[in-house]
Amino acid sequence: MTKDITVTGRLAPSPTGLLHLGNAWAFLLAWLACRAQKGRLILRIEDIDPQRSRPEFVTAILEDLRWLGLDWDEGPDLGGEHGPYVQSQRLAEYAYAIEQLSQQGHVYPCFCTRKELKSLANAPHLEDTGPVYPGTCRNLSEKIRQERMAQGLHYTLRFACAEPFVDFVDAVCGPQHLLAKDWGGDFALRRSDGVISYQLAVALDDALMGVTQVVRGRDILFSTPKQILLLRRLGKKAPSQYAHIPLLLNAQGERLAKRHQSLTLAALRCRGVQPERLIGLLSFLAGLNPHAEAIRAKDLLADFAFSLLPKADVCLDGRRLESL
Ligand code: GLU
Repeated sequence: MTKDITVTGRLAPSPTGLLHLGNAWAFLLAWLACRAQKGRLILRIEDIDPQRSRPEFVTAILEDLRWLGLDWDEGPDLGGEHGPYVQSQRLAEYAYAIEQLSQQGHVYPCFCTRKELKSLANAPHLEDTGPVYPGTCRNLSEKIRQERMAQGLHYTLRFACAEPFVDFVDAVCGPQHLLAKDWGGDFALRRSDGVISYQLAVALDDALMGVTQVVRGRDILFSTPKQILLLRRLGKKAPSQYAHIPLLLNAQGERLAKRHQSLTLAALRCRGVQPERLIGLLSFLAGLNPHAEAIRAKDLLADFAFSLLPKADVCLDGRRLESL
């Protein structure tokens, strides 16, 4: 008898650099959450930002994830029924979704978004949250829109958020009642140069790939209502479980990000750090391992629960790093 598979999780790295400790933390927890429920895992490469993504990082990321002891069932290396697993090969899907949303009147051209251009294709992490969009271009007349387009003015395509709030229950942060002002109001779907926004690509791919569980950093919490709204308008099922986990911070209290090059997994590996020691430390910080002793990811599965994770962000100071 085949067992019903109820959970489909995903690991969704962006190949904009080598994986660092913050990524290892997030991917370990996403992997544990899914595998602890005997779920299927999809590996999806999020490379829609042509300026920042590099193919050579894809190979390095796969190698790092395997070194950590994490595995997946579908992905660019394994294939599967939901491919392609690389977002730059899924552009036709995104264009089709924008077309559908436009036909239903949920999209409008916006001529005032230059400041957003740079970061649109990336998940908005803490330092990227901008002001609420005041709706300037939402109610422009068709005549003015046509005139501006005829003048060759650049425009992004924005999604009109009709709902004033979105409710969902987060497996880590609890019940959420988020207002349009919390997520920034109407948001962009496509840059003026044609690059698709992170919000659209991620929401659509999660639905098309049958993802039911999304585990990611709590700094992305405010993207979730946008992704839920998009899927509602597209008539697609949103993931049934979202879990926004605490962040791993450095000794200065900053989110570990790509700029902290010395903390890449590749650098740690070069220094001879064993993956089990790293998993031991990360799982200790996550409340899943009492003593930070070396352990394999799969040996943490039996005792994993979201309720064990710390409520606040976690600091990884130099002393702990040295212990590796
Ligand atoms: N590729 C995104 C990132 O690196 C993933 C965000 C998400 O899980 O939705 O931040």
